[in-house]
Amino acid sequence: MQTDLLAPQIASLDLTLFMREALYEAEQAGLAGELPIGAVVVIEGRIVSRGRAQHQAKQSQLRHAELGALLDGGTALWENYKNAILFTTCEPCPMCLGAAVMADVPHIIFAAHDEVVHSRQTVATNPYVRRHIQSYYGGVLEAQARALIARFNPAMLAYITSQRQEHATRAMQPHSASGSAPPPEATPSGEQI
Ligand SMILES: [Zn+2]
Repeated sequence: MQTDLLAPQIASLDLTLFMREALYEAEQAGLAGELPIGAVVVIEGRIVSRGRAQHQAKQSQLRHAELGALLDGGTALWENYKNAILFTTCEPCPMCLGAAVMADVPHIIFAAHDEVVHSRQTVATNPYVRRHIQSYYGGVLEAQARALIARFNPAMLAYITSQRQEHATRAMQPHSASGSAPPPEATPSGEQI
């Protein structure tokens, strides 16, 4: 399903070009045993920062790809946030959506939809969020993003596809400190998307 909030100045961009860069970050995260999620921040056709999931490496639940990219935006993002686009391989969670809003990044482009986070509904129904967001557009290279998630973390793919919310988020983390999660997949699983 497409989410069709796309500002005219963004519509002319080759969205797949930058999403491929985010997918590269996602693959690197997966290869490192992290959740396979990546992000880039783009301003005026140039990538100014990159991020990838680093929960395990940094021992923090907050080390999301999008938040990392936004925090590393530096002077380019600080001075030109009005033209910034956040590309992410998976629909942003409430924290990362909130970080984009607070960073005044008006455009969010994502690949795989996440039915659990309900961020789309937040954009649609929260006036404060809606005022900041000019583009909220999903489905760009979604098949590639889902294939990447299936390769590294089939549990995460099932999670983001589910409408149910009773799953513990830790269950999809490959090296969960709880010890209940399975080890990371060294090879692609049998699940092919
Ligand atoms: Zn997030």
